[in-house]
Order: sequence, then C-alpha cells, then structure tokens
Amino acid sequence: MDANQINPFNHIKALSFAKRFDGIINDHYYPPVVVNLDVTGKCQYACGHCHHRSKQIKLHQMPDLDPTLARTFPHFMKSWEEDGEHPVACCIVGSKGDALLYPQLPDLLRNLHFAGIDIGLVSNGYGLTPKLADYAVHYCKFYGVSVDAGTAEAYKRVHNCPNDGWLQMNKNTMDAVLRAEEMGSSCDIGWKFLILPQSYDTLYEGCRVAKELGIRWVQIRPADLPEDERRTIDINVVNEQVARAVSDFNEPGIFEVVNIKNKFTPDLKKILPAYCYMTPLTVTITSDALAWACVDRRCDAPTLLADCKKSWQALKDVWGTDKHIRIVKDVINRGGQGPDCNIRCSSYCYDELFRLFFLRDNFDRTLI
Ligand code: SF4
Ligand code: SF4
Repeated sequence: MDANQINPFNHIKALSFAKRFDGIINDHYYPPVVVNLDVTGKCQYACGHCHHRSKQIKLHQMPDLDPTLARTFPHFMKSWEEDGEHPVACCIVGSKGDALLYPQLPDLLRNLHFAGIDIGLVSNGYGLTPKLADYAVHYCKFYGVSVDAGTAEAYKRVHNCPNDGWLQMNKNTMDAVLRAEEMGSSCDIGWKFLILPQSYDTLYEGCRVAKELGIRWVQIRPADLPEDERRTIDINVVNEQVARAVSDFNEPGIFEVVNIKNKFTPDLKKILPAYCYMTPLTVTITSDALAWACVDRRCDAPTLLADCKKSWQALKDVWGTDKHIRIVKDVINRGGQGPDCNIRCSSYCYDELFRLFFLRDNFDRTLI
C-alpha cells in the first residue's frame, strides 16, 4: 500500500494513539484502542481458509456469548478508563462463526453506540436480514463483508456455502447500501477480498460487482496460506487484476479499491515481526468470555489473560499487571527472543511504527 494514501486501512493512523505507544515503552498499558469481541461460533459457511486460529478453535465448538455479558459489555467499555484513555472501538466478529447469527446482536450494536463506542461489524453477509441491515448501517462505523471471490462459482469454491450464497450476499449488500442511503448514514460498507488460490483470478470481476452495488471500499489482502497453496497463485495475474480494477473503478471519496500488502513480501509471503510490542493496542474476547492478549493467538492457552464469565471486571483487573506484561514479554516474545507463532500478524505494521519512531526516534521528534 502506498504509505501516502490516506484511508482507513493505512496503519500510520495508529500514531494518533502515541500516548499508548509511549506507555508501552514504560510497561504502562493504557486501555486498548480496539476490543475485538467474538459473539458466536455458528456459521452457515464452511470455508477452507477459516483462519489459522481454527487450529485452536476446532477442538471445541464455540458457544454464543452469554446474553447477560452482552448486555453489560457496553457499560464495561464505557467505564474502562485510565488517565483519560478508554477503549475507542469494538470490532464484532464471529471467531469461526458469523456475527449476524448472534441473537442479541441488534441490542449489542445499539447499546455500544449509545455508550460512545465506534463499531466495526465483520460478517460473511449471508444472514443480513432487513432488521439487521437497519441496525448495522445505523449504529456501525464500518460494515465489512468477507467476500473473497468475484463470481458465483468462485464464491462457492471458497466458502462451501449454500447454493444461493453469492446471490443472497449480493442482495443483502445492496439492501444495506440502500438503507444507508435512506437513513443518511455515514456507515462505510466494504467488501474484503483475501487473495486465495480458488478465486484470485476473479478479483477484477469482484471489484466491478462491488462498484455496481454502490459500496464504499474494496480491500484486497494476501491470505496466510500454507506454502504449497501460496505457490499455486499466479502473482502476475493478481497484480494485473488489481491494477486494472484500481485504474478502471477508483473514484476517490466514492468508491475505492485498496491493495493492502504491507504485511507481506511482493510474492505474498508473510513478514513476521522480530518482536511484538503492540499487542496491548487490542484485546480479543472469544464468545466463551475468555480474553486473549494477541488477536491472532486467541484460544492459545499460554496467552490467556482473563476469564470474564462471571464479570468483565476480570479483564480490567488483569490489564497492565505483571501477569499481562509477563504474557507479552515471556510467552509471546519468549523472554526477548521474539515470537515463534509463524502467524500473519495483525499488529506487524504497528510494531514497525513503534520500533522506528518510538524506540529509535527516526522522526527526530524534537526537530521541527
Ligand atoms: S464465513 Fe467466516 S466464520 Fe464462516 S466458515 Fe467462512 S471464514 Fe469461517
Ligand atoms: S507476531 Fe504472533 S504472537 Fe506476536 S502479535 Fe503477531 S500474531 Fe501475535
């Protein structure tokens, strides 16, 4: 991605949370910027790529988030404050499940909104009923649909979905766009494309359809794939399709295709950080009410931060304590050797910012 492009997918935005970066240098963890909340383990699809964390999650079926915990969660987010800092946003996902299948989702979205929390909702888009569309576009800042393919055939190959998957997801996306227009909502509706062996040659067509539906963003990202699968992707075809889509369809401020490859090499190999500093920018809560230090290692027992089944207070109580710092330094970073997770890291680009501009001060902050 061009670092000069200003868009929601540019990691440089994290510099606005400089106080948190400074805190991390001093082992002082402020409340996270984003709390990822998984709400269900149910899904209508059976995607082969259902994220690396499935390695951990497949061992047990994830439950729905307890309704009482869902009801008390917005207040918890609002009241978690330290030295003027509090969580800013909540990203609601499914964790090997789809968030739209969570019965309490409408109330959760509304209550988070009225607690002053920005909401990102991520889904496969298949189960977006008219009521959910209303709630999603009315209360969320971002509604992202994981599409990952540009034709009905490729979509079926990627997602192992019901036969009407592609058509229904398209129809639901269009309904959301129309409802947003009717409400005058500022919710950004976006499609997300992972570059996958089963569908990479349909990227251009997917961008064309997305523009026709009237959504705001298409983000295209490499996937964390096993090496033998990665090799089956013709990178020249990917690059040609993305370049043509950008050239043919991009209208700044109206519809944009964004090619986000800064966590990968040009031949789509993931770049692993030498050290993870930035995990305290987020926390991830799985639908069994367990809180995890690293978003990408959710359900990996040594990184368990807190069990919140009785109360969210358990997360507040552990945040920034010796236990938390020990998990970051001794477990995740193996006592200074750095991580060995071999996972495509959500925090990689933030770690780079931290290393260059906070640890080493490559900006030379005091020189104007
Ligand atoms: S739609 Fe998402 S949660 Fe459902 S199987 Fe596919 S990747 Fe997993
Ligand atoms: S490198 Fe691995 S352990 Fe470290 S933050 Fe990233 S995914 Fe988590």
